[in-house]
Amino acid sequence: MTKLKANTKEGVRTDFSLFDRFIDGFYAFDRNWRYIYINKPGARLAQKSVTELLGKRPQDVFSDAHALAFGETLKKVMTDGKPRSIEAYYPRYKKWYEDIFFPIREGVGLLARDVSRRKNAEDDQLRLSAIVSSSDDAIISKNLDGIITSWNRAAQKMFGYTAEEIIGKSIRTIIPPELQKEEDIILAKLRKGKRIEHYQTVRITKSGERKYVSLTISPMRSKAGNVFGASKIIRDITKEKRNEENLKFLAEASKELSVSLDFKKSLHNIAKLAISHIADWCTVEMLDGNEKINLVTVTHKNQKMIKWAVKLWKDNPPTMRERAGVANVLRTGISEFYPHITDEILARGARNANHLALLRKLQLKSVIIAPIKVRKKAVGVIVFISSVSGNLYTKSDLSMAEELARRASLALENAKLYQDMQKELMLRKKLERQKDEFVGIASHELKTPVTSLKAFAQVLQNRFAKAGDERSALLLRKMDAQINKLNNLIQDLLDISKIEAGMLEFHNGYFHFDELIDEVIEEIQRTTDKHTIKRKGRAKKIIYGDRERIGQVITNFLTNAIKYSPHADTIDIIVSSDSKEVVLCVQDYGVGIPTESLSYIFDRFYRVPAKTHESVPGMGIGLYVSSEFIKRQGGTIWAESEVGKGSRFCFRLPVKNKQSTNQ
Ligand code: ADP
Repeated sequence: MTKLKANTKEGVRTDFSLFDRFIDGFYAFDRNWRYIYINKPGARLAQKSVTELLGKRPQDVFSDAHALAFGETLKKVMTDGKPRSIEAYYPRYKKWYEDIFFPIREGVGLLARDVSRRKNAEDDQLRLSAIVSSSDDAIISKNLDGIITSWNRAAQKMFGYTAEEIIGKSIRTIIPPELQKEEDIILAKLRKGKRIEHYQTVRITKSGERKYVSLTISPMRSKAGNVFGASKIIRDITKEKRNEENLKFLAEASKELSVSLDFKKSLHNIAKLAISHIADWCTVEMLDGNEKINLVTVTHKNQKMIKWAVKLWKDNPPTMRERAGVANVLRTGISEFYPHITDEILARGARNANHLALLRKLQLKSVIIAPIKVRKKAVGVIVFISSVSGNLYTKSDLSMAEELARRASLALENAKLYQDMQKELMLRKKLERQKDEFVGIASHELKTPVTSLKAFAQVLQNRFAKAGDERSALLLRKMDAQINKLNNLIQDLLDISKIEAGMLEFHNGYFHFDELIDEVIEEIQRTTDKHTIKRKGRAKKIIYGDRERIGQVITNFLTNAIKYSPHADTIDIIVSSDSKEVVLCVQDYGVGIPTESLSYIFDRFYRVPAKTHESVPGMGIGLYVSSEFIKRQGGTIWAESEVGKGSRFCFRLPVKNKQSTNQ
């Protein structure tokens, strides 16, 4: 221990050795501000050795001495001899000191104590409470009985209770009835000293509104380590949660709208979705042709309420005369939004005292009415109602509802279009059926007289021939050929109507293919002087099929060949066969068919759109009927052609011999 005795002006030495036993720093200054004594802790605090300081003034040793409260206070005490104490921060040491100045005989004594720990703790405390009170998150604390012990400003804003109102009350005040169990679980965890992090749940405000919150709950421990309560940080995530819910709902509802063309069913499903997402109650109401509002669907979170809700609606149906609500939205096409239903709003909307009493019972909290439109005119509404859940709709809910209504509108327009199209299609089909029926009846009726005509012409022709009147007989032969043409046309018409009605019948049997060909050639040859039909090859096959129909196909090929080769004089008919099939082709040397038309040639009513073809009379039926026959007889039909050179029409038919078939 350094024992130093200071020399004073008066020459009397004060014994400061007592201060050597202090843990606080001690410094003695003479009136000239010089250090005359420093104890060991003092030297340590100043971070200097005693000899470095002795005889010097603070300003000689410390460049910042003047700037500090220290210098100021030392001066005052020197001057008036009154003791003073300060708490000052010394940047040089990064520490807080409590300095107690007091007069001594030689000048001023100074006791200095490091109070950094306390000061820092105080600062931390201040900082903490500043954070707590300025936080956007509610920060509250409670004891292990769940009694609230602190409540910050954000908590007041979030839940509506002031600190005075709620401190001392149970935390259960803000827990919805159905979630009360949560608190027991939370308290049990806390007692075990466990922390609960980012736990998402629902809390209820003073006005009954429900909020989605994220909770972080930490146990608070005494110095001895015992848990005595908990601090809670509560973040309001209602907005995010609602947006998330809204988007989910919108996506699901849109899917619902797109999967079904049954609009009413979609609406019902949407209303069902609504009550699991954003509403306690959802209705869809539509205008009918008489400007009457009809209830399309009602859903309610509480199944039992649906019947009641329907009854309420039916007892007090909205009418278009009303100034507000559904009727107004239908009239204007603009949605109505009641974020917070007050009694005044109810009174305004009620039709009479009874109705008002009922409306009050509904505990309506918030309502959105959005229009469903078709061609810009509102034809219906979707109503979202929040009641017991206490949700208050926000602008973003309104946007969601409007977007949903817009999508529903589109779906409705599509459904209407689809219905119109269906109707149109049905009508067209009906007309077509009627036309086919007519063609069927007409051709059938035509057939009988034409058959008689043919018979008479043949009788006459025979008579004239017998009587030697060759000219008249020739005329009658020509007439007979024309009757044949007429007959073929009628036959085609009759066949086409049978094909359309699915009533085409075949009379199959065994016949000599070559014989049939010869017969047809002979008949057709009679109708033309210009063309010679030349047969090339023979099938030498008995085939199984409808002889008459197959004959009709050959006739059709040959008559076409004649019609579409006005400047040629030969038509070849080429026949071949093998063990399985016979093939017949009719080759002409006429106008031909453009390649792009070839694939349509067997379509119903198709005629090649070219002058050379259009000048020839025809209905575009023959080849269609022929191809149907051949296909149904198990064969194939095709055409090859070159414009200006001629066409070749062929079919191939299976040969079924007697042994292999029992048909
Ligand atoms: P149409 O009564 O019009 O002749 P088809 O069904 O028999 O009806 O034939 C359909 C169309 O195919 C004809 O309008 C014609 O344009 C074309 N066509 C048929 N056969 C020939 C052919 N041998 N040469 C050129 N074009 C043909």
